[in-house]
Amino acid sequence: MIKVVKFGGSSVASAEQFKKVKDIVKEEDRKYIVVSACGKESHEDYKVTDLLYLCEAHAKYHVSYDDLFNQVKDKYLRIKKELGLEIDLEKEFDTILSSFKKGNMSMDYLVSRGEYLTAKCMAEYLDGEFVDAADIIVFRYDGEVDLDNTKENIKRIKTDKKVVIPGFYGALPNGMIKVMKRGGSDITGSIIANCIDADIYENWTDVNGIRVADPSIIDDPMKIPYINYSELRVLSYRGANVLHDDATFAVREKNIPIHIKNTNNPDNDGTIIMEDCSEIDKVQKPHTVTGITGRKNYTVITIIKNHSSTEIGFLKELVSIFEKYRISIESVPITVDTFSVIVQSSSIAECLYEVVAKIKEEIKPDELIVEDRMALIAVVGRAMKQVPGMSGKLLSEFGRNEINIKVINQSADELSIVVGVDNKDFEKAIKCIYDRFIKEEEN
Ligand code: ASP
Repeated sequence: MIKVVKFGGSSVASAEQFKKVKDIVKEEDRKYIVVSACGKESHEDYKVTDLLYLCEAHAKYHVSYDDLFNQVKDKYLRIKKELGLEIDLEKEFDTILSSFKKGNMSMDYLVSRGEYLTAKCMAEYLDGEFVDAADIIVFRYDGEVDLDNTKENIKRIKTDKKVVIPGFYGALPNGMIKVMKRGGSDITGSIIANCIDADIYENWTDVNGIRVADPSIIDDPMKIPYINYSELRVLSYRGANVLHDDATFAVREKNIPIHIKNTNNPDNDGTIIMEDCSEIDKVQKPHTVTGITGRKNYTVITIIKNHSSTEIGFLKELVSIFEKYRISIESVPITVDTFSVIVQSSSIAECLYEVVAKIKEEIKPDELIVEDRMALIAVVGRAMKQVPGMSGKLLSEFGRNEINIKVINQSADELSIVVGVDNKDFEKAIKCIYDRFIKEEEN
């Protein structure tokens, strides 16, 4: 079995955390190790990548960044000392600083140094082989990863040792370093897993797995043991802060499961994300609801026009106005002659009046209503389709709790139900769904 293991910032934040990683990767199968830059050791601490971005911002405005840079340096020097490493960090930092001062270093290069140095230290500590992401992860000039060339490069790695790769960056065909989006080490792990046809991609973090709901709303919510890729996609799109959204594409393509594990509690089963959970569901019946998430602050524009439901092309004309203003539409609930367009308030804030004027001019509605401060809550579950009257149960729960529903939308695959409520009812609604579909089922 081949496993790609990725350790996030908190898993490599200190010498103590490095020791935990060493213990975890003792297992022979865990051969390819991707690391993030050092994260926070405590609440008061800073993430190395944040500090490096700040150095760049300070330099841009000619403000001294020495303290910030030294914080990064001190962190790595402490790790080196506590682990008894030999890596010449003074030299590494001198090289970074002198070329940064001369102004011949790109921002991407500078901010990628966190991952680079963590991987260098980790490789020495594990007696593994350091493989620079710049030598294997190839970006095309359009910013997409060139998987074919990346695969060729990875095939050339020949070693019996553990392979330690920095996450978050790669290089353009001209050799220039290019970083991914923030949190991109998750993506690196996924790409490596795809390229070597791994059996599993383990993503090590500082929580026991994905929770059913946000712990800041629900006190100690249950962990999700298994979730499929489609459920995860809806949950992360609708607001859950789990894996980096782009991290699933490369592994999903090859049907490779992702296992979320806790570096600080490695014996916990974590959460397994896979394409199809049906075999497991036969043995371990899932909850009706896998996860609950959502976001506040949506705007609903409702257009009422007599006979519009029978007018071919009406909807197209309406949505094309939003397209013109580059506003992404979340949902379009329709009833007879009434069309509602739901968008994130922040995406329309600057042009709301223009959009409304355009709709009035081009569509000529009988009535147009704009409502904001709406929250959208997504209730997601692969088991929901086996439950007759699921949306009825949800509605009556809201009724019992005196929560007014503004919109309700169930996807045709019955994987999710999205409910719109007033912002003020957001937390209450999530709590009542959790109590009814998770807590009650547990008892
Ligand atoms: N270090 C990068 C960040 O903080 C990438 C990562 O940790 O995944 O965004």
